[in-house]
Amino acid sequence: MLTPNEQERYDRQIMIGEIGPEGQEKLKRSRVAIAGAGGLGSPIAIYLTAAGIGMIRVIDHDRVELGNLNRQILHWEEDIGRRKVDTARTKLRNLNPAVEIEGFAETITETNVSELVDGCDVIVDAMDNLPTRYILNRCAIEKKLPFFHGAVKGFEGRAMTIIPGETACLRCMYRGPVPEEKFPVIGVAPAVIGSIQATEVIKYLLGIGRLLTNRLLIYDGLKGAFSEFTVNKNPNCDHCASLYRKE
Ligand SMILES: [Zn+2]
Repeated sequence: MLTPNEQERYDRQIMIGEIGPEGQEKLKRSRVAIAGAGGLGSPIAIYLTAAGIGMIRVIDHDRVELGNLNRQILHWEEDIGRRKVDTARTKLRNLNPAVEIEGFAETITETNVSELVDGCDVIVDAMDNLPTRYILNRCAIEKKLPFFHGAVKGFEGRAMTIIPGETACLRCMYRGPVPEEKFPVIGVAPAVIGSIQATEVIKYLLGIGRLLTNRLLIYDGLKGAFSEFTVNKNPNCDHCASLYRKE
């Protein structure tokens, strides 16, 4: 199923015992929705494209601004004013033309979210605001699609993987106030967290390794330290509890 070109391109990762040619074919058959083409979405999309995912759908309503360029590495100075999904498509196609790249320039809402991720195997949370993360979390639970959460602020970040019907969800973990809209970020923070999210997606699609389920991984770039917190399913969670009661 892999062409000679693909065998050469993915040679180093096919060499990994847990991947092999079968694993590479699994990646090629996979379809990933990335919600957000900003600081997190950039490294996630780049690494998943480089790894040979079959189809990547980038969802982002925004256009590129100068103030994005310190961290949103899919977008360059020449892209200012372009729709982020268009610049993402250009860059990702140039990186790996074998990957099908779809760009949906839509604002994610409760009404359209189900349609936006339709046909994808997993959803990656590369958003910058909690209300949209909740919309995605609920949709992932309803559609029983794995959901890969990531968030950054300053030099810090966090990541967690959610398997609906099995693990704690984003809402189980956090029910506090919605943080302020504009927050500080240095580009290396989403680079670290986005790479972890992409790793989780690859592990899930291949069925290998130990996922970040029921545990929140916290990265502190200034301390150069990772820490981890256990997250328990909330039996009264207003997003996911009904899923468990039904079963
Ligand atoms: Zn929950």
